[in-house]
Amino acid sequence: MTAPHCVLVVDDEKQNRELLTELLHDECRVILAKNGFQALERASEQQPDLILLDVLMPDMNGFEVIQRLKNDDRTRHIPVIFVSALDSPSDEERGLDLGAVDYIAKPFHPPIVRKRVRNHLLSVHHRRLLENLAMIDSLTEIANRRRYDTQLESEWRRCARSGSPLSLMIIDVDHFKAYNDNFGHAAGDQILRSIALTMSGQVGRPGDLVARYGGEEFAVLLPLTERHAARLMAEELRGRIEDLHIPHPHSPVAPVVTVSIGGMTLVPKGGQVLPELFDGADAALYVAKREGRNRVVWQEN
Ligand SMILES: [Mg+2]
Repeated sequence: MTAPHCVLVVDDEKQNRELLTELLHDECRVILAKNGFQALERASEQQPDLILLDVLMPDMNGFEVIQRLKNDDRTRHIPVIFVSALDSPSDEERGLDLGAVDYIAKPFHPPIVRKRVRNHLLSVHHRRLLENLAMIDSLTEIANRRRYDTQLESEWRRCARSGSPLSLMIIDVDHFKAYNDNFGHAAGDQILRSIALTMSGQVGRPGDLVARYGGEEFAVLLPLTERHAARLMAEELRGRIEDLHIPHPHSPVAPVVTVSIGGMTLVPKGGQVLPELFDGADAALYVAKREGRNRVVWQEN
């Protein structure tokens, strides 16, 4: 079950704020703002799922507020419903032109507001589900390459800001082709699922990520992790996979399925992901394979 949705109610009149809170608190968590400035601040800090926005307010009216929300990367995705005493078709049209998803005239009919909010929250929920599905590898049900790229960018920036190390490992299944050729692709797929499950069970701090990078290659991202700790984690993963004791009679490395791991640790600089992290881990993986596979090699830097 996901956390309840959060709705930001923006209205300069206390009575309206109270009325809307009363109306919605069974559907969602309600947060309040009594003017445009507070609305902008709360929207960017608390990332509500939906905003109910009054139009007539002193200092900054609702039309101005929505323009600012839509001009800010942190808030442009949040759907806005105008709740306004301005009820002419031209006001409504203006509101929708500015990017609102709906326009409710005051005085409003409470059950209608509740139902419209419910419908918009349902859309938000469906959109999230689709976004999440688009980030999951359908075979192994762990993060896919796209999710890896997104998370690498955000963790790179986070580590760059705090001057912390970021570690990456790339994991490759040893002699996977020989396994597939001998046992078929369905059996090969099962190996990939087992490995994904094993690694996901070991790696799970906030910000850590296990992803299928492509084919029989996985990537593990460990933010705020020093080289030594990351390398120990890589050894742990390698050992766990060997300990699954999945027979692989066609591997010259071992009688069971094994993996080779290449890793790299660096302290990110700047906001753009540099290729040296991946390239370093990839070069280390190459060395691990050349030296006989079923081992961990960490790139020097
Ligand atoms: Mg007002």
